[in-house]
Amino acid sequence: MQKESILIVEDEEKILRLLEIELEYEGYELGKATDGIEAFDIYRSRNWDLILLDVMLPGMSGIELLRRIRLKDSFIPVILLTAKDSIEDKVSGLDLGANDYITKPFRMEELLARIRAVLRMKQTISSTKEEEDKWLHIGDLKVNEKTREVIRGESDIALTPKEYDLLLYLLKNKRQVLDREQILETVWGYDHFGDAKIVDVYIRYLRKKVDSDYDHPLIHTVRGVGYVLKDAT
Ligand code: CA
Repeated sequence: MQKESILIVEDEEKILRLLEIELEYEGYELGKATDGIEAFDIYRSRNWDLILLDVMLPGMSGIELLRRIRLKDSFIPVILLTAKDSIEDKVSGLDLGANDYITKPFRMEELLARIRAVLRMKQTISSTKEEEDKWLHIGDLKVNEKTREVIRGESDIALTPKEYDLLLYLLKNKRQVLDREQILETVWGYDHFGDAKIVDVYIRYLRKKVDSDYDHPLIHTVRGVGYVLKDAT
């Protein structure tokens, strides 16, 4: 597994050194910055999995830096390192989208636990996002390419493999009129060349499952040409 990367932004040499030693030991890949302006440049130079951000910094405060980071990226986890007495920093930090904060002086075990928790959450969020990205939509119909689920409105639709291939091809080319030979070639392959009637048969099967129970059909016939999948006539 690739090492997770953490950018440490901290101007106190002793704390920075301690964090470096501990986090390196835990197997993280590290970057460091000691003032806010430098930190913003280093942040932009590559992708980080997490930022540990001191609030009181020379150059630009941690809060201002967080605000700028959030303008570019709402997902990267940020844990603030705050002074004990500064409730305001914690509140504005969380308002600006810090994922968590830890008060100095902190116990290393506690910081490590929070880092792990935040990184775990990031993993969950990004895999959920990936899952969502797999859905192709038209109107109230959606198809998940990864799981091969087909859903219209609230209902699951069970398709045979060929019906699924046909629907997926129509969906990937939605709102384009596809002629029957084209569909035949792509979905069935060359060996069915000239046998375009099979397309009509499968379109009929698909309509029965996808369209017949609904007011607005999605599969439309273009006379003399072929078919199109679209959400409005
Ligand atoms: Ca500081």
